[in-house]
Amino acid sequence: ALPKLPLDNPQAKALAYTENAAAVKHTLFKPGSDCANCNFYKGAKGQAYGPCQMFPQHSVAAKGWCSAWAKKV
Ligand code: SF4
Repeated sequence: ALPKLPLDNPQAKALAYTENAAAVKHTLFKPGSDCANCNFYKGAKGQAYGPCQMFPQHSVAAKGWCSAWAKKV
């Protein structure tokens, strides 16, 4: 499995990545959005972490969020 994306990773910081979407207070945050329902998330259902196309070297939290979030299509 890919290592978890560190919160202090420069790209993670640039995109305001967090493991807890429930606590996000970002102007781009849409209520209900999280990594699990993001178009870039490729994790398996029911798994706490999974791959994200924006962070190819790491896994991200299913309940996480970042400002690159895009609705799953
Ligand atoms: Fe999560 Fe989507 Fe951001 Fe990846 S691009 S960290 S899946 S919100």
